Amino acid sequence: MKFSHFLALVLSFFALFGALVGPIGSFRAGADSTVNNGTEIQISGTASDLEISACIQTISSTFSIVPSEHLAALKTLVLDFNPAANRGLGGQSLIRIRCTGMPENELRSVFIHEIGHIVDTGLLDGHSETGESSFLDGLRSVFQDDPSLDFYTFNFSDSSSLTNIAKPQDFVSGYAQSDVFEDFSESYTYYILHGAKFRFLSRFHPVLRAKYAFLKDRVFDGREYGAERVEMTRVNARPFDVTKL
Ligand SMILES: [Zn+2]
Repeated sequence: MKFSHFLALVLSFFALFGALVGPIGSFRAGADSTVNNGTEIQISGTASDLEISACIQTISSTFSIVPSEHLAALKTLVLDFNPAANRGLGGQSLIRIRCTGMPENELRSVFIHEIGHIVDTGLLDGHSETGESSFLDGLRSVFQDDPSLDFYTFNFSDSSSLTNIAKPQDFVSGYAQSDVFEDFSESYTYYILHGAKFRFLSRFHPVLRAKYAFLKDRVFDGREYGAERVEMTRVNARPFDVTKL
């Protein structure tokens, strides 16, 4: 999920019901921490030290998969132990992840999806002097020189409107069709976790080929993932949510 959308919901909720509730503790990742140094980690909800360190361990193991420069934009990481929380939210410099009620694999996939959001909206950014595009990130303008625009326009005419010629097979998942930001993050996640399958599907679908090339050349600096053989894949079938594969 995209953080700005969630924020709009939270703001409208608190406009109605008043103050923020629930304790949020906070500490900064130290030199001996395996979490990105300089990222502030906040704990939301109630958890034992053991639960907190288990979550940090899962997240740290993800840091070694993702290019380290992608984490440069991450300034605040909220580990949420509220079972009713969203699985994850990400945008600009913040990731909020639910650390409870998810298998380790899914937690790792959701975390990569949220990193996709901060790469898209925190790292790949444009400049106001180049002018506004027809795309909006919540209330923020997406400027004409924002590198993500070349990705957004593969299938969308504005942040959430598909072009007339967009097809379900142009996307890595059903959820990717929600808006440009989910398309970017789902594709980012699929690129890392299902690279061989992404390349396989790209042979049959030109838009997926273009999305893969964008990610490889402009996001991952040529680095590719997944050397496994892809056997007998249905080339037109798509999952709804790549984080649940
Ligand atoms: Zn998302």
